[in-house]
Amino acid sequence: MERLVYLDNAATTPVRGEVLEAMLPYFREKFGNASSVYSLGRESKKALEEARETIASYFGAKKDEIFFTSCGSESDNWAIRGIAYANKNKGKHIITTSIEHHAVLHTCQQLEKEGFEVTYLPVDKYGVVELETLKNAVKDDTILITVMMANNEIGTIEPIKEIGAFAKEKGIVFHTDAVQAAGHIKIDVNDMNIDLMSVSGHKLGAQKGVGVLYIRKGTRIERFMQGGAQERNMRAGTENIPAIVGLAKAVEISCSSVEEENERLTALRDKLIDGILEKIPYSHLNGHRTQRLPGNCNISFDFVEGESILMLLDMKGICASSGSACTSGSLDPSHVLLATGLKHEQAHGSIRFTLGYQNTEEDVEAVLKELPPIIERLRSMSPLYDEFMKKGE
Ligand code: PLP
Repeated sequence: MERLVYLDNAATTPVRGEVLEAMLPYFREKFGNASSVYSLGRESKKALEEARETIASYFGAKKDEIFFTSCGSESDNWAIRGIAYANKNKGKHIITTSIEHHAVLHTCQQLEKEGFEVTYLPVDKYGVVELETLKNAVKDDTILITVMMANNEIGTIEPIKEIGAFAKEKGIVFHTDAVQAAGHIKIDVNDMNIDLMSVSGHKLGAQKGVGVLYIRKGTRIERFMQGGAQERNMRAGTENIPAIVGLAKAVEISCSSVEEENERLTALRDKLIDGILEKIPYSHLNGHRTQRLPGNCNISFDFVEGESILMLLDMKGICASSGSACTSGSLDPSHVLLATGLKHEQAHGSIRFTLGYQNTEEDVEAVLKELPPIIERLRSMSPLYDEFMKKGE
C-alpha cells in the first residue's frame, strides 16, 4: 500500500500530536467534573477557564464571550435559533446566503416553518456575496444577518469585515460561520464587527465533537440546551474537558502561526491548481483565484464523474472529496457549485482537495502524477467525451 496522501482537511483534520498530549491527563488523573467542589473538580474548572481565556485571546474576544458547544453545527443552530427566538418581537426576517453549510441552511428552513422569513442571497460566479445585494435585502424587521466567513466547498472568503460594519451601522445582529476559516486565516471579532461566530475543533487539528460559539457581550440570545447551569447558564451539559483543553491547544498552535502557514499552504495550493489546469485539458477552477482559503483547490473536470475520480484516487492512496463531506453519499449536485452558476454535469465532475498543516510538496506532486492518467482513463470510457471529440473533428 502506498503512503496515504490525505487531502481532505476541510472534511476533518488529524489531531495534532501536541493537542493529544495536552488532552491525555484529563482522561486519566485529572478526570474530575468541572462542577465538583473538591480539588479534582476545581482542577478541571481551572483547565476549562484557561482554555476559554486562550481561545478568546486569539480571536480578540473577551473570556466570558466564549461558549463551548459539541460541534460547529451546534454553534450554528444555537446562534441562529437563539437570536431568532430572543428577538422575535422585534422582527422575523433573517438574511443568509445560498452557499451556507446545511447547519445554517436547514436551521433557517426550519425557522421558516415556524413563521420566520428568510432571504437567501445569491453569489457571483466566484461564490462571493455582493455587499450591495445584501444591503438591498434588508427590511425594517431584519433581526439577523448570517454569512459564512469562508466556504467549505470552494474556499471563497466572504467580505466579512464590510458586512459586519454594515450590520453594525444598521443595528442588526451579525453571525458568521467561521468553521472553515478559524485557524486558517486571521480573525479579530472586533475588527470584523462580528457579534456571533461558530468554530469547530476538528477542522483545525483538535478532535471531532467540540466547538465554540463566540457571543458578543450584550447580545440578546436564548440559551440552547436545557439542564444544568454550565456555560454561565447558557448551554447545559457537563463540559468535555479533554476536548476543550485540546481545542485551546489547537487554536493556540494554528492561530499563532497563521501567517507563515497561510503563506506555505497558499504556495502549495497554487502549485496544485496551476499544475492540474496545465496538465489536464477541459478542467476549470471553482471559486475565486485569490480570495480563497489557503488550502482549498476545487476543480471541475468536463465529461467525467467526481465519484469515479475519487474511487480511482483512493486506489492510489489519495483522499479527496467530491463536494462537502456532509452531502457526499447523495447524488444531488452540490448546492454551492450550482449557486455559482455551474451546470449539473459540471458540478458532478468536481473534486475538492484541501491541504492542511501535515501536507507537503510531496503530496501535491503525488496528485499531479496520479490525476492526469485517471482523468484520461475515465474520459476514454465517456460517451460524452467521445461525442465532443467527434464534433470537434
Ligand atoms: N460549517 C461549515 C462551514 C462546515 O464546513 C462544517 C463541517 O463541515 C460545519 C459547519 C459543521 O461543523 P461540525 O462538523 O463540527 O458540526
